[in-house]
Amino acid sequence: MTVKQLTNHPKAPKPGRVALVGAGPGDPELLTIKALKIIQHSDFILYDRLVSKEILALFPTKTPTMYVGKEKSHHSIPQDKLNDLLVTKAKQGLNICRLKGGDSFIFGRGGEEMLKLKSAGIDVEIVPGITAASGCTSYAGIPLTHRGISQGCTMVTAHGEKELNLNWEQLAKVGHTLVFYMGLSKAQLINTQLQQHGMSPSTPVALIENGCCPNQRVIRGLLHELPLLAERESVQSPALIIVGEVVNLADQLAWLANAKHNEIQKLSA
Ligand code: SAH
Repeated sequence: MTVKQLTNHPKAPKPGRVALVGAGPGDPELLTIKALKIIQHSDFILYDRLVSKEILALFPTKTPTMYVGKEKSHHSIPQDKLNDLLVTKAKQGLNICRLKGGDSFIFGRGGEEMLKLKSAGIDVEIVPGITAASGCTSYAGIPLTHRGISQGCTMVTAHGEKELNLNWEQLAKVGHTLVFYMGLSKAQLINTQLQQHGMSPSTPVALIENGCCPNQRVIRGLLHELPLLAERESVQSPALIIVGEVVNLADQLAWLANAKHNEIQKLSA
């Protein structure tokens, strides 16, 4: 075989790398510079449901994109097919941006995707994003920790893969801020379990709907009112539930000037 033939021989492409990129909670200005650079320079973007339309608008028009989100329990593409797709596309030599709401490693299945990619020999880069607990509470004027009020914060999912297996006893007694992701349909369960395990029914709670987005709503009340608040205000997903005394600090700290951004309602007031 001559050198010329060798050069012409179609080579298997060098595999691309996959960047698992956190898009943050909605406001495009909360993207990291690194996230934006990867969005602008990738060959292919796969994005989830919680990536806001303002961030979608930043995708270069020439870049192929694919929606791979899930609505409640319905996946537009099953997770194992998505993992296979990432591997196949990377093996074709494409540099891929896998864009997820918030942070990939917080209730984002980033670890699962990374394990699969690493086992297929694909290089992976992680770009952290602002997780909903941090972004939404900041935009609502609710500090997750506050000296003398809350010495910590526990983030939990209220949605179990099979069944919900939370240690309610510990959650009720821990004495610091609780943040429930995917908790909207479990408002009644959160209310009854926390109370049954000793939390006061008058513990302050907040529901933050579409946090960090132009239509953010913050609805506040007390633990025993939680299911009623969610129902009365027709709170829609995505929404976070915050439980703890820090919620009351929003009386003084809510800072978003636009009332539309920060419509605070207190049932018990
Ligand atoms: N990886 C994401 C979480 C995905 S789980 C992160 O780090 O933020 C999806 C849940 O996150 C939603 O059901 C909701 O509880 C919460 N969430 C995400 N974005 C939100 C937003 N902008 N406003 C309120 N809740 C949000």
